Amino acid sequence: MTNHDASPLDPETSAAAPSPAASRPPVYDVVIIGGGAAGLSAAVVLGRARRSVLVIDEGNPRNAPAAGVHSFLTRDGISPGDLVRLGQDEARSYGATLVAGRAAGTRRSPAGFAVTLDTGSTVSGRRLLVATGLVDELPAVPGLSERWGRDVLHCPYCHGWEVRDQTIGILGTGPRSVHQALLFRQWSPNITLVLHGDMVAADGSISDSHGPTDVEWEQLAARGISVVVGPVQALDVRNDVLTGVRLASGHLIPLDALVVGPVFTARTDFLAGLGVSSAPHPMGVGSHLETDGSGRVLSDGSVVAGVWAAGNSANLMAQVVVAAAEGLGVATAINAELILEETERAVAAYRQPFSSAAEARNSDAHLGDRRHGISTPALEAAVETAPELASGSDPVNAREGRN
Ligand SMILES: Cc1cc2nc3c(=O)[nH]c(=O)nc-3n(C[C@H](O)[C@H](O)[C@H](O)COP(=O)(O)OP(=O)(O)OC[C@H]3O[C@@H](n4cnc5c(N)ncnc54)[C@H](O)[C@@H]3O)c2cc1C
Repeated sequence: MTNHDASPLDPETSAAAPSPAASRPPVYDVVIIGGGAAGLSAAVVLGRARRSVLVIDEGNPRNAPAAGVHSFLTRDGISPGDLVRLGQDEARSYGATLVAGRAAGTRRSPAGFAVTLDTGSTVSGRRLLVATGLVDELPAVPGLSERWGRDVLHCPYCHGWEVRDQTIGILGTGPRSVHQALLFRQWSPNITLVLHGDMVAADGSISDSHGPTDVEWEQLAARGISVVVGPVQALDVRNDVLTGVRLASGHLIPLDALVVGPVFTARTDFLAGLGVSSAPHPMGVGSHLETDGSGRVLSDGSVVAGVWAAGNSANLMAQVVVAAAEGLGVATAINAELILEETERAVAAYRQPFSSAAEARNSDAHLGDRRHGISTPALEAAVETAPELASGSDPVNAREGRN
C-alpha cells in the first residue's frame, strides 16, 4: 500500500493537525466514530482532502456473521473482514489515524467536540461523523441468533442468489413479512410463510388484526406461497446446518433457510451528551439518526451543528456500497463546511488593521527588502565582513569557534 503525503496545505489546518511533538493533545479536523464501509470511505476522502482524521472503531461491522459481501461491484464475495482491512489500509495510506475502541460519550468542547472512549481517554475534533451502523434485533426464537447471517437471513440482495431454488421459510412477525415472502419468491418457487408472534392469536388461530389482509391472502395464493400457522418454538439444526423450524404444535417444517425481519436499531447511545438520539424510522422498521439531505444530523427537526452521519446509522436500508458512497458524500460536505469556516476566519484576520498578517503586508508594502531594518546593499556589505551571516549560523558563537 502506498504511503501518501498527508501533510495539510492550509497553515490553519496544520495548526490543528496532530503532531507527536505537540504537548497538547491534537484536535483532529474530523473524528469519525465507526470504521465500517461508511466511516472508512469518509476517512479516505478526508485524508485525500489533506484533513487530519481519527477513526474510532469497535471492530464489529453489521455483516460480520456473513461469509461474503455481495452486490458490491468488483468486490463480490469478499469477506466482510477483508473488506474492512483493505479500507483501513487505504485510510491509513492517506494519513488517517485508526483507533480500536468504543466511543462511550460525546460533548461539545472549545475545539468542537470531545469524544470519550470506553478506555477513559478523550479525543477532540472540529467535526464529528457518526458511522456506527445499526444493530439487527432478531426475533427471540431459540437457536435463531446463532444462525444469523448463515441460514437465517433478511436481505435477498445479500443472500438471495445463494439460496435460490431452495426451500425458504419466512418467519411471519408483522406487516413486512408478507412483503418479504413475495420478495423472496423471486429467488425460489418454494416459499412458506410461517405465521408467528402477533400474527397468531392467543387461541392458536390466525390473528384477525395482525394476520394477512384479504388482498395479501390473494397475492400469496397467486404466487404459490404456502402459509403455515405457528408459532415457531425453535430452530431445528443438524450438523451445524438448518433443517427446519419446530412449531409449538410439535410439527417440523423442513427448510433450507429462514428469512426474518429484524428491528433495525441505529447505534447512537454515545450521542446523549450532545442531546442527540435516534428517532423512529418512517417505514416502521426501527430507529435511526435523522439527517438533512447532505448528512447533517437533526434533532427535533433542527440541525445539530458540526455533527454528521453516514451509512446505516442514518440510512437503515443502505447496502455496503451505498454506505461507502454516503461516506464519500458526507466527507465532501464536511470538507466544504471546514473550508467555508477557514475562509471566513482568514477574511476576518485579513481585515484586521493590526493583525500580524496586516503588519506583515504593511511592512512589505512600505519597506520592501528593508523590512527587517537592513537593506539588501547593507546586508551584502555585512556578509562580506561577517560570512557567518550568509550561512545562517550564530555570529557570536561562530566568532568564538563554537558553531
Ligand atoms: C448478515 C448480513 C449480511 C449482509 N450482507 C450484505 C451484502 O452481501 N452486501 C451488502 O451490500 N450489504 C450487506 N449487508 C448490509 C451491510 O452490513 C451494511 O450495508 C453495512 O454494514 C453498512 O455499513 P456501515 O459502515 O454503515 O456500518 P457497519 O458496517 O456496521 O460499520 C459500523 C462500525 O462502527 C462500529 N461501532 C459501532 N458503535 C461504535 C462505537 N460506539 N464506537 C466505535 N465504533 C463503533 C462497529 O463496530 C462497526 O465496525 C448485510 C447485513 C447483514 C446483517
